[in-house]
Amino acid sequence: MIDLHSHLDLYPNALELLERVGRENRFTLVVTTSPRAWLATTQVFRRYNNIKVALGLHPEVADKKFNEFDLLLSSIHKTNFIGEVGIDGSARNLNTLEKQELIFKSTIRECEKVGGRVISIHSRDAVSKVLTTIRTYENCGIPILHWFSGSVEELTTAIKMGCYFSINPVMIRGEKGRELISRIPCNLILPESDGPFVKMAGRPIMPWEAMNICSDLSRIWRMPIESVKDMIEENFKKLLQGMSGFSR
Ligand code: MN
Repeated sequence: MIDLHSHLDLYPNALELLERVGRENRFTLVVTTSPRAWLATTQVFRRYNNIKVALGLHPEVADKKFNEFDLLLSSIHKTNFIGEVGIDGSARNLNTLEKQELIFKSTIRECEKVGGRVISIHSRDAVSKVLTTIRTYENCGIPILHWFSGSVEELTTAIKMGCYFSINPVMIRGEKGRELISRIPCNLILPESDGPFVKMAGRPIMPWEAMNICSDLSRIWRMPIESVKDMIEENFKKLLQGMSGFSR
């Protein structure tokens, strides 16, 4: 099992789950919402080689955590994985848009400066802003658009730019999500849970359930489920190979 976007540190029973995630998942990318959370979580999860903790500053807390902005920038050289970062242009976050843009742009610029990073990106109602920044710093590394919900036009641009898309079981069961996913080339898709925020059957989704997208993908792609799983494995392998190209 693979999960490229989990908030494992935010489950109420995170420590109990940790061992099972380490056992059941071949790889889990735990994204964090602030640099201080990254520091703490990295300490707690360090025994697990197959669980990586990404350095993040979530756009929804851009204002609240703005005092950690320097810590974010000065830590980017210490890790291969950045997230959750991005821009949220939805109505309730418009008042912090300037700060969000400053944080995101500076982060992506720093990723380029240090030779490239894997970056898990939030782009709700702000896809064109996010893509413009990625294009400005085209050597920033490997962008993964998490839970993409933009327009078909924006999707086409992101595909042309070679972005990856991490998709979760709830997204793929919605009509809009499914429609978008059907337009994404198979080789750009990666699984995510986005738990504990994503709920299935009234409870938080687990990191080992991210791969549940494979049954839906098998219908969308008209491909046997085993081939879908192979494809996802292949995409993940390519992602790791891409990381080896980061200059240090
Ligand atoms: Mn998230």
